[in-house]
Order: sequence, then C-alpha cells, then structure tokens
Amino acid sequence: MTDSDAPDRKAANNFLRNLIAEQIASGEHQGEVVTRFPPEPNGYLHIGHAKSIWLNFGLAETFGGRCHLRFDDTNPGAENPEYVQAIQDDVQWLGYEWAGHVRYASDYFDELYGYAEHLIEAGLAYVDDQSAEQASASRGTLTEPGVNSPFRDRDVAENLDLFRRMRAGEFADGACVLRAKIDMAAGNMNLRDPVLYRIRRAAHHQTGDAWCIYPSYDFAHGQSDAIEGVTHSICTLEFEDHRPLYDWLIERLPVPSRPRQYEFSRLNINYTVTSKRRLKLLVDEGFVDGWDDPRMPTLCGIRRRGYTPTSIRRFCEMVGVSRADGVVDMAMVEHALRDDLNENAPRAMCVIDPLKLVITNLPDDHVEMLTAAGHPQREGFADRQLPFTREVWIEREDFREEANKKYKRLVLGKKVRLRNGYVLTADDVIKDTDGRITEVHCSYDPDTLGSDPADGVKPKGVIHWVSVSHGRRATVRLYDRLFAHETPGRGDTDFRDQINPDSLTVYEDCWIEPGAADAEPEAMFQFERVGYFVADRHDHTPDAPVFNRSVALRDTWARIEAAGA
Ligand code: ATP
Ligand code: MG
Repeated sequence: MTDSDAPDRKAANNFLRNLIAEQIASGEHQGEVVTRFPPEPNGYLHIGHAKSIWLNFGLAETFGGRCHLRFDDTNPGAENPEYVQAIQDDVQWLGYEWAGHVRYASDYFDELYGYAEHLIEAGLAYVDDQSAEQASASRGTLTEPGVNSPFRDRDVAENLDLFRRMRAGEFADGACVLRAKIDMAAGNMNLRDPVLYRIRRAAHHQTGDAWCIYPSYDFAHGQSDAIEGVTHSICTLEFEDHRPLYDWLIERLPVPSRPRQYEFSRLNINYTVTSKRRLKLLVDEGFVDGWDDPRMPTLCGIRRRGYTPTSIRRFCEMVGVSRADGVVDMAMVEHALRDDLNENAPRAMCVIDPLKLVITNLPDDHVEMLTAAGHPQREGFADRQLPFTREVWIEREDFREEANKKYKRLVLGKKVRLRNGYVLTADDVIKDTDGRITEVHCSYDPDTLGSDPADGVKPKGVIHWVSVSHGRRATVRLYDRLFAHETPGRGDTDFRDQINPDSLTVYEDCWIEPGAADAEPEAMFQFERVGYFVADRHDHTPDAPVFNRSVALRDTWARIEAAGA
C-alpha cells in the first residue's frame, strides 16, 4: 500500500527499507521481517506517531512480514483504557491491521519477572535500598563516573529473597529497586546500573492489582520484542543510547529470539507540537475542545479536520526515513491533502458570507435545474442538480460597486458568469440606512448557458452562488494553524503563549447547495473557489449541516511568510 500510494513521486530516502532489502538478500533473519508499533497508552496518537505506524506496518507489508500492535504499558499511573481504545481506532483508520491479537507488555509480566530472577541468580542484578535522591546523586555526570551503591555487593540469596519480598508487597513504594549490575563508571549513563523494577502500588488497566512492582521501559521493551519474535525493533533516535543496554540484556537472558534495535529521526513539523504531554495540556487547560478538536495534530483531530489516511501515508512517503533530525514544513502535509482531495473530492458550492442577488428578469416562482459535473476532470462522480431561482446568494466579497481591472468578479454595470450557470449583469444596488449593501439587482442573459453572450462582451470572472429558496443553511468552521509561531515552545517561551488567536472562525449563516447538505458525516468536498471541506464527524446532520475547512485551495501561509521575509 505504501509504495503504490505515491506512484507519481520519486520515493524519498528510506534507509531502513534499503537495509532490510540487503539483509534479506544476504539471508539475515532467515528473510523474516517482524516489526511492532509500541505506543504507551498515556494519550492520543499524533501525526508523529503516524510516521512510526506507517514505517513499522509499511516495512512488514513491503517484505511480506508482520507487524504487532503492542502497548508499552509498564507505567500504570498515566495510562488508561480510553487511550488503549483510541490508539487502536487510529491505527485502523490509517489503514493498517496488526498481526494477531492486540498485545501488551503486561502480557509478559510473568516472563519478565522470571528474567529478573535469572539476572539475580547470575549475579547481574541487585536490590538497592538507596533513596531516589541518593541513587541520583551517586549516578555521576557525563564527565564524572558514578559511585557504587553500598548495597551493590549483596549476595545472590539475599537479593533473591529481597526481590521476592518486593513482589510480595512487603516494602513501601520507593523503598528499594532492582538494578542491573553493569558499570557505574560507564561512559553511557544508561549502563550505570539501570533500574529494572520499581515498587508501585497502582491499579493497572490490564493486570489490576496483581502486581505491585513494575518493570522499567528498558527492561520490558527488548524482552517483549524477543518474546514476540520481533526482528526489527524500530524506534526514534533518542533511544540510540539505550541500544547498548538493550543488547546487554538480550545477550544475558534466556530469551527465545534475538531482536535488533534500529533508530530513525522523529518527525517534527513546524507550527505544531508533537508531544502527548503538551497535547494533553492543551486539552486539560481548555485551549482546544478535546483531543479530536480539528486543530489538534492528533490523528483523531486531523481526521475530524478532513485529512485522509491516504494523504498521511503519502506525506510519510514524501518525507522519507533518515537519521538526520529536521523540521518538516506544515505546508507539505497540507500539500499532500490538497493533492488527494483535488483528485478525489466531489465539487459543491457554498457561500460563506452571503449577499443577496435578485435576478429581476426571472419570475418569482422560477426554478430551473442546472446540471453540474461532480468533478471537473474525473469520471465516476454523480452529476449535481443546482436549482436556479430568482434570488441567489453570492459571496459579499464577490461584488463591488467599482473596481479596477484586476477584480474579476461582479461589478456594478458589468457582467459575470455564475459558476455552472448563466451570465448576468449587475444593474442596481439596494442599501440599508447604514449604507450597507443588502441586495444587488441583476438581469441574466438566457442564451449564455455554456456559451458567451451574443453581444461579444465576455464576462471577466466566474463566481459561485446558491439558490436562496432551495439552498440550505449551514455552519462553516474555518480552521487555521493552531500556533502562530514556527517552533512553539522553543527556548524559554511557553508554547501555550504562542497559540494563533485566529485558529478558528465560525460562520453560522452560510448557504450550500442541497446535495452537499444531505452528505454523510465525514464526506469531503471541494467548495468551488473556497477550499476543501468535510462534513463534521460528530456535529453534521442534513437538517443542521456543519462543515470544517480541511485546507484552503492554495497555500496562503507561503504568501504570508514571503511578505514577512
Ligand atoms: P510522546 O513524546 O508524544 O509521548 P512517545 O515517543 O513518548 O511520544 P510512544 O507512545 O512511546 O510516544 O511512541 C510510540 C512509538 O512512536 C515509539 O516507537 C516512538 O518512537 C514513536 N514516535 C513517537 N513520536 C514520534 C515522532 N514524532 N516521529 C516518529 N516516531 C514517533
Ligand atoms: Mg512517552
């Protein structure tokens, strides 16, 4: 699926795909590829995770292997079943199926406990009674070695006894930990006797109260990989320094297979944040309306905004996979969406800021059905029926009493074409007592459906419109970037101070053609001349249509940035 998604593009670098192809050619891993996507269920997935999902599932697919979904659930305090469900929904929405059942690191708590005893028996782990402060003070620094714990030389029998009593709940939370006995002087801090187990009395969403000790990420992750037969344990670059520990454990434990860890650089995108912790703050502090607010970079948020799974997968393919850190331009994500919707979204007309146009040479009860193409280039889109009546709405900004030649819309005394309809001339304007235009009176030329006026004066522009009597009233939400700043939260600034105050504008009095109002939630459209829109997943009904702008027709930010530069 991933390769064929981008037939029109040269594939960007994907060093992992190349590497695995070479490994398979040379017979490594017996040609088998098993990957996993290992989220911690402590929040909703964001677009950064989409890259990891696309990469792990995509590699398995490319090489005929399999990819597991495994929750890294070793931290019961922050995790919850709502997140467990949401993450599964998001992976499926992106179009991927995990092999077999949903897996959890907690499925392996018994095995992991056994591996811990194995290390103790081999003299490679000990119970440390130091307080967290003492342990941290004796860890040393990047330039200075750490100091051995006074409990480091406990014998095997004592360590086994203490560890079993840890498990049995004899000690208070934080009273002691199990540590690997590696090297307190190691240049790599991760090898300075890392913690393998800690005591934590917290109900776990999968195992309930069965355990009061929990393995650390480092102890759980590699061993879970090995238990599942994962061949390629792919993670982001911040885990590179954990790889020696990953290997140290795998080499010393009686695990059933030998996985290897590979790192790639995280996806960072400007004008947004990709950190569950920060996204949770936006939700908890009411900056947005929940995890699936269409401004959020969460997968459920961009889904509600109108992003398609195809556009996200294409975007990942365009960005490629490397070990170089960088920031991807938000315009690239938007471009991927525009590309997909331009090809696949049916067209419709919607007036956001209505101005009434009265066609004076039509009778009051005139209703003429005009036929318009569902898509200007492609077959397979149903034709639309557009009721043409004496009164129609047009965009207020599409009319001026006077204008220069650059203004290719309706001007008093001049002609314009109604999109998919006739040419008309603006004859008169009606204003209220404040001087605001309330109506434009026009006359239409009945011979101009699909052809130019006989008098040879061609209209300069085409504007969209909706029948006043047959159009349907709709709410339209125009979304913009959530952050006005390119790198929210950089340096001393608080990312919450950099929220774009204009990220949402709601228009309650919009008018759409009848067929679009009847669309299902999540149906996507190009509203001609206006942008790409989606019927809101939760709020849209045919009686009260609600559309979200997914992306503008063109990249207005590029122009804003060019103007500022
Ligand atoms: P966050 O900091 O947002 O909580 P995380 O890395 O802690 O992210 P996990 O649930 O541990 O989140 O992530 C699951 C997988 O997704 C990991 O393998 C992680 O490396 C990967 N991942 C997370 N963020 C990104 C990103 N921005 N780009 C690529 N992969 C990512
Ligand atoms: Mg995390």
